[in-house]
Amino acid sequence: MARASFEDTAEPTAAQAALSIDLDAIAANWRLLAARAAPAECAAVVKADAYGLGVARVAPALHRAGCRTFFVALLAEAVALRAHLPADSRILVLNGALPGTEAAHVAAGAVPVVNSLGQLAAWRAEAARRGTALPLVLQIDTGMARFGLPPSECAELAGRPELAHGLAPAILMSHLACADAPSHPANETQLARFAEAQERLAAALPGAAASLAASSGIFLGPRFHFDLVRPGAALFGVPPTASAPNPLRAVVRLEARCVQVRRIAAGDTVGYGATWTAPHPTTVATIAVGYADGFLRAGSNRGACCAKDGTILPILGLVSMDSITVDAGPVGEGGLRAGDMVEVIGPGRRLEHVARDAGTIGYEILTSLGGRYERHYLGGGDAA
Ligand SMILES: *Cc1c(COP(=O)(O)O)cnc(C)c1O
Repeated sequence: MARASFEDTAEPTAAQAALSIDLDAIAANWRLLAARAAPAECAAVVKADAYGLGVARVAPALHRAGCRTFFVALLAEAVALRAHLPADSRILVLNGALPGTEAAHVAAGAVPVVNSLGQLAAWRAEAARRGTALPLVLQIDTGMARFGLPPSECAELAGRPELAHGLAPAILMSHLACADAPSHPANETQLARFAEAQERLAAALPGAAASLAASSGIFLGPRFHFDLVRPGAALFGVPPTASAPNPLRAVVRLEARCVQVRRIAAGDTVGYGATWTAPHPTTVATIAVGYADGFLRAGSNRGACCAKDGTILPILGLVSMDSITVDAGPVGEGGLRAGDMVEVIGPGRRLEHVARDAGTIGYEILTSLGGRYERHYLGGGDAA
């Protein structure tokens, strides 16, 4: 497919809603992040089906851009991803191996992140069974209490480096809790803990690359970059720092059709629960996107979408399963008519605003995008 911009996307004829995913923008975002992090290597986190955008299309586009290290969360995601990547790419599984799944990871061409001493023993046993030094990617907990060796296990491994023998040290990693808030003191605390652990574990993992930063961490500066950075959300246009301008390109455009327009009288109510009452005669348009499509119900009476002419259309009433209702009064030039497309996410309704209206983050908006959209992939440098 030729390079296309959002502007020249052909409107589908029958689809009630269309999702455009700009693979060129994803590749450009990866290059921007890689340049910022250089000389560190830039990986890509494509868990949860590439944050809802379709790993089968996203991962090959990232590979073409130059990415060779990919993170997913689950073994099943690794299996699916392996089919879309050349053998020169490594796939690392963040949630680690559940007991007894070590061999399945090897069969998938994936490496589980080792998150505890128990997992370390099981991964060593797998290596011993095979007579090969499997790669060791070890995560330590520096302040999230979620994944990784707790401080007590770190200390034990530091004192007994032989616990890691028989494996090929690849990566020592940890994860930041507050990286989107650059002045949060947890960033420096975690950085210091990580640097200290790196030193203490040098005998257990000689020569391992170090990795601390995800999307937001890259923007905390070079001290946070170490040898490998792991952006996910920023690849897909989510702003890495809440308080700073977003340097990344928008990736997603979601449009939905207006399916009905009506005039209601003062005192009439809109939607389930009759939560919105018209203060005066109002033009109400029904738009074909609802919570079953990932338009979060939390956006009821708060969110908006955007007409072709840029007019903001505030949501009236509760979000339904298959539709929302908006105030179409402000639209000029003949108004809004059945069949017209309105923008739900895009240049007129940026992802961060959609997230804010629903009281959440861009991550949740993207990973909630439903399966009913007609999907268009733009660019990507391939023929599909
Ligand atoms: C999800 C995840 C990432 C990517 O985070 P983003 O904020 O999306 O860049 C990186 N590392 C770990 C351990 C993760 O769980």
